[in-house]
Amino acid sequence: MADLKIKTNSGTTASFQEEDLAELMMSLRGPLLRPEDAAYEPARHVYNGMFAGRHPGAILRARSTADVIDAVRFAANHDLVVAVRGGGHSVAGNSICDDGLIIDLTELNGIHLDRKAGTVRVQGGATWGDVDRETQAFGLATPGGVVSTTGIGGLTLNGGIGWLRNKHGLSCDNLVSAEVVTASGELITASAAENPDLFWALRGGGGNFGVVTSFEFKVHPVGPIVPAALVMYPLAEAANVLRKWRDWLPDAQEDITSNAIPFTVPVSEHMPPPVHGQQVLIIAGVYPGDVEEGLRLIQPLRELGTPLFDMSGPLPFRAMQSSFDFFFPLENPLISYWKSIYLNELGDDAIEILAEAANNRTSELSMINIVHLGKGVRSVGAKETAFGERTASFMISLDANWRDTTGDTARHAAWARSYWDRLNPLSTGGVYLNFVGAEDKDADKLVRSAFGAQL
Ligand SMILES: Cc1cc2nc3c(=O)[nH]c(=O)nc-3n(C[C@H](O)[C@H](O)[C@H](O)COP(=O)(O)OP(=O)(O)OC[C@H]3O[C@@H](n4cnc5c(N)ncnc54)[C@H](O)[C@@H]3O)c2cc1C
Repeated sequence: MADLKIKTNSGTTASFQEEDLAELMMSLRGPLLRPEDAAYEPARHVYNGMFAGRHPGAILRARSTADVIDAVRFAANHDLVVAVRGGGHSVAGNSICDDGLIIDLTELNGIHLDRKAGTVRVQGGATWGDVDRETQAFGLATPGGVVSTTGIGGLTLNGGIGWLRNKHGLSCDNLVSAEVVTASGELITASAAENPDLFWALRGGGGNFGVVTSFEFKVHPVGPIVPAALVMYPLAEAANVLRKWRDWLPDAQEDITSNAIPFTVPVSEHMPPPVHGQQVLIIAGVYPGDVEEGLRLIQPLRELGTPLFDMSGPLPFRAMQSSFDFFFPLENPLISYWKSIYLNELGDDAIEILAEAANNRTSELSMINIVHLGKGVRSVGAKETAFGERTASFMISLDANWRDTTGDTARHAAWARSYWDRLNPLSTGGVYLNFVGAEDKDADKLVRSAFGAQL
């Protein structure tokens, strides 16, 4: 077998013969995938097609905490370039690198629900779909993301904004403890009682503090049926509908979580044929409480204009959690460049810019995620966790997505950048690190924008 070659942090290449790997291979439960292995090719693919050309030196698919410890120690001993892969959804491509070692947690996805304690322990490579499957079987949930294939790892470590946020906070706010393999290969626990500084940092501070092999979250009674609004208005009416939505939010019942999303409805079996190909502004909302009461509370979201189509009603919470999955297929992936910004208010000036941005998208696959942030996010003190923005009322993500690989990156990315620039004077100056694209890698600037309140 050819020598295994992996890049080091000093830029050289470390070369390993079979005997150099013997001890590691004897211990591992998971495979060490090399470029010549059939399983290597599918394993190197991540969500963002922008990184389809990245080829790591090897992919170590961990099947246990001990595998992760051995992988980290091996990498540390040889000063190897490492990337940690959870769900693989990093829009900036942070979980895949050229020539380095990938510590792949995909198969580390066990879940243990402790109904008595009201907690769920989830291994570091699980997805939100995995978690919802186990917790919803008992009418419980912890706040995750809005796409079921996103990993719990990256999403939680950077915050975690989903359909339960206004009642139960961010994903990181529900973290009770974490098991972490440090850079020196030690396994430690982070919680309010043990290593509290690390626990603080893991809640919104990003994936830089070690490999989290398991997360323990609080769970809450949710559903399994929830009242949900999913109303499609014509995009041409976007400014009017957004103004009415914004005016309704302060009077809305505070547990309701709502997003406004301009996009083009794909021709998909998951979408009603009458709206296939239509440009719409979808107004979505979830009330994680009594169904009858919730339907009454979200009714105004259905009356912000004349809908093209209205899919609102009682919905299984898991269906809501995966209602946008079809848009982000794992096969035939999108190429994505996203840019996020926070606003204290959604003034008429911001709405005009957003409506223009929605109508001027350079790709039918691009969308804008306008996220209302309410009580659950604010009820945690600004300095209680590392998460950088607790007071803004809106987070906006300009999501440029496309599929053609004909060098159009600059055009689509310029759409996101130019409207981000237009919104910037109205913003808090912060960014949400889970929604940043590949070219925003001025690390110092990013850190200052994301953690302004903490510096
Ligand atoms: C289709 C799609 C939908 C999304 N929806 C939402 C949403 O609803 N809400 C939201 O807040 N965000 C959302 N995001 C953004 C998402 O939260 C981030 O991309 C997040 O980083 C993905 O986590 P991951 O584990 O899937 O990704 P990965 O690419 O595997 O990892 C992302 C980063 O986290 C690190 N990491 C992952 N797991 C671990 C671990 N166990 N220990 C240490 N480090 C780890 C990686 O090294 C990398 O730096 C979405 C992204 C996509 C592509």
